[in-house]
Amino acid sequence: MADNDKTVEEKMAALRDNYARQMTSKIDEISSHVLLIAPHGKGTNDAIAAVRALTHKLAGSGATFGFKEVSIVAREMEDACSKVIEGNDDASGLADFLDKSLDALKEASDHPDVRKENSDEKKQDSKGSGTIDDRVIRNILVLEGDKKTRSQIVRELKHFGFVASGTSHPKNIAKAIKKQKPDALVCDIVFDGDDNAALGIISELHQSGGLDCPIIVHTEIDDMPHRLAAVRAGAHNYMVKPVDMADMIDVLDAVTADGEDDPFRVLIIDDDESLSRHTELVLQGAGMMTSVLNNPMTVIEVLNDFVPELILLDLYMPDCEGHEVAAIIRQQEAFDAIPIVFLSGERDVEKQLSAMELGGDDFLTKPIRPKHLISAVRIRASRFRELRSMMVKDSMTGLYNHTTTKQLMTNEIERAKRLNQSIAMASLDIDHFKNVNDTYGHAVGDKVIKSLARLLRQRLRGADIIGRMGGEEFAALLTGATIEEAEEIFNQIRQAFSEIVFNSDIKDFSVTFSCGIAEFPTHDSVSSLSDASDKALYTAKNGGRNKVVLA
Ligand code: GH3
Ligand code: MG
Ligand code: MG
Repeated sequence: MADNDKTVEEKMAALRDNYARQMTSKIDEISSHVLLIAPHGKGTNDAIAAVRALTHKLAGSGATFGFKEVSIVAREMEDACSKVIEGNDDASGLADFLDKSLDALKEASDHPDVRKENSDEKKQDSKGSGTIDDRVIRNILVLEGDKKTRSQIVRELKHFGFVASGTSHPKNIAKAIKKQKPDALVCDIVFDGDDNAALGIISELHQSGGLDCPIIVHTEIDDMPHRLAAVRAGAHNYMVKPVDMADMIDVLDAVTADGEDDPFRVLIIDDDESLSRHTELVLQGAGMMTSVLNNPMTVIEVLNDFVPELILLDLYMPDCEGHEVAAIIRQQEAFDAIPIVFLSGERDVEKQLSAMELGGDDFLTKPIRPKHLISAVRIRASRFRELRSMMVKDSMTGLYNHTTTKQLMTNEIERAKRLNQSIAMASLDIDHFKNVNDTYGHAVGDKVIKSLARLLRQRLRGADIIGRMGGEEFAALLTGATIEEAEEIFNQIRQAFSEIVFNSDIKDFSVTFSCGIAEFPTHDSVSSLSDASDKALYTAKNGGRNKVVLA
């Protein structure tokens, strides 16, 4: 079986077997140094130091690979050597003690613990490593008796990038599902005056497995018995008409999301190859992406290539110690806030603290249970991701904020210069937005802003940069697009946006936006591109709004 075809568990088992096979030679190596320690201990400091270093490693890795007893014995040997080296104990009994310990070590190496926690944890923690594509196609089936309402919902869902189809009666639903399996069902519950007709059929389909997607009830009835009936029929949501399309989209986004974030990216720096490989497999088993660095001298290149969200760092390495590596990482501006977690056999709290003063955020002691390692990494990496996202994204829309957008634009223009590519830059501003707020209230205004953001994300490509530049102003950078291509795209978005019907207590309404587009290399800096697209936007506003104008 090729290595790639093996499961994480199989790889882990192979790694453990390999470790067990190497154990004998590791113990022999320790033994060869122990032999050099004179019975009185004096004059054999090099040998004692070598035994301490080797047992330190063994103590850190043994339990990780299923040899807990090996770790315990090795730790005792390490401690005994430390005491002598640090002058806290005379050396007279050391050779004898180490000799006896070696026997215990050999005994322990023949008896690995039975450990099944890896595979147990794998089951709970394992996640695929797929990424969310905003533009994944999602099929929505709309069961709605009223023709006008049905076609309006279908039309608006399409504006937001869903593939939607409608059906008028519950008796047709099985056929509709057969034709196209929906990712969600939006359904009314009253048909032919019977308020149980739809729920009965849906409940049956749901129970027989014929309908296994989220169900959103969409009805005029708002009472407890119907809500209860809906829950019993397997409905996820209950929305009372009139429902704001923006709210419906939010719910559909939530229930059809695959619930998978990008996997965390963890860099493991440790000179011990098998131990770092083990750490890697534990984290991969929990759905994370990992990169292993056994020689810290190349850390800067790896940082820039892999762009980790957390670094696990060994404290003692031959060429460059962990705390020095931490200091070097912190000197890189882009990584000055990345969580650095020491993963080391060092148990002396003083030494742990002094390592952290130099740039570490936390200290985990080897051996560490896989479960603890996974949760320690996940908590810190997700907090880092959250903080970073707060710094670069606008919280209301999830689009890039003003500062980040400008920064990304600068990078994009540099790249386009290198690659000789074109870029189209669009400035958008919602028309008469002050009126929307004044007439329908600020909360309704917020929904309009969010809907436009959602629409932009839906219609543009993942590689395009979309930012919220201020209140109701947006900017988008379409890399590789010409001004004419951008004009066509933004005219489609403009059309779709103008057709969205927003609901309010006062009345239903629609909103438009105006857009100006400029092109790189005609304008060859962020400021001249923005100025040109802003000027074109201004022309669009003066020309009657709801328009796309080219610079
Ligand atoms: P024009 O067509 O010329 O762009 O007119 P306008 O009314 O859209 O432009 P103006 O700049 O006068 O008004 C923008 C309004 O947007 C004023 C401000 O209160 C509102 N606004 C800014 N940020 C937000 C927000 O986050 N939420 C809401 N609801 N309103 C906002
Ligand atoms: Mg405006
Ligand atoms: Mg404005």
